[in-house]
Amino acid sequence: MYLSTRRAGARAAVVCAFVAAIAATSGCAPQDEELVVYSSRNEQLIRPIFDEYEKETGVRIAMVTDKAGPLIKRLQAEGEATEADVLLTVDAGNLWYAKELGLLAPVESATLARNVPDNLRDPDAQWFGLSVRARTLIYNTDSVDPGDLVGYADLAEEKWRGRLCLRTAKKVYNQSLVAMLIAEHGEEETERIVRGWIGNLATRVFASDNQVIEAVAAGQCDVGVVNTYYLGRLLKEDATMPVAIAWADQQGSGVHVNVSGGAVTRHAPNRARAVELLEWLSEGRAQELFAGVNMEFPANPDVPTDPFIAAWGEFKANPINVSRAGELQGDSVRLMDRAGYQ
Ligand code: FE
Repeated sequence: MYLSTRRAGARAAVVCAFVAAIAATSGCAPQDEELVVYSSRNEQLIRPIFDEYEKETGVRIAMVTDKAGPLIKRLQAEGEATEADVLLTVDAGNLWYAKELGLLAPVESATLARNVPDNLRDPDAQWFGLSVRARTLIYNTDSVDPGDLVGYADLAEEKWRGRLCLRTAKKVYNQSLVAMLIAEHGEEETERIVRGWIGNLATRVFASDNQVIEAVAAGQCDVGVVNTYYLGRLLKEDATMPVAIAWADQQGSGVHVNVSGGAVTRHAPNRARAVELLEWLSEGRAQELFAGVNMEFPANPDVPTDPFIAAWGEFKANPINVSRAGELQGDSVRLMDRAGYQ
């Protein structure tokens, strides 16, 4: 459906340019323009932000929503014929993979370089983090003294035997977490850590972060590792749940953070507007909304964090470039397999 919309838009733009030439005005009003965004972020979360963009700029946004894998495959299959101008997806591992496949284009933008910290964007400027997600420790507040929680490596210690819950290694979030541990500790030490985790599991690995949180709440295990927005959502529904966040490795390298981000596609039909959309998303109210709708942290450090999330307190984030998570993804997957993490 969005295809026909786009063709109509293109026709209208031609008429508009013709009228503008006759009238000798400065150009075409953008009302006839359209951007196509492939998004693995939930349409309900993103649409209200795009509605504001449409109101402000007159540029229409058509969305194609799917999981990251299928969207990237689709971009690849479409090649030069793609209608997609922008790819929005979660996890640096996915953004890195799209770049590796040659599906993204570099963007030289002083605005993006200013708004998005170095470690949250691709060193070749092919993708930019727009919100930050923290993957850290959670614990059962009835059975664990938060002072006993140190960090990711510590979860491999004897004292956590039979007390740990984890999500499956198949999820890119855990692949990225382990990739970052490899970047920091090297393969040998990381394998020792991951083997320790598996030896400490209270139960089989779960399919989702929510299941990990529910297991910790139910006392099935005492500690787990999740992205904080999942806990935020559950706590908004039930504030009495006996689960809290512990910021990992605050005496060491800091919490593992990842991004949800955006990129201009290599064959974007409307490249200039695609860049403008990413710039618009990187500041002000759009940043607040982009992070806030999913209880994440703004990528732009000048933008305030949603108060509900800010109440969890400041934390030190690992400053390593998140693109390392992509570069080391293959090593990470193989290591987890060797260590028996399924
Ligand atoms: Fe998620």
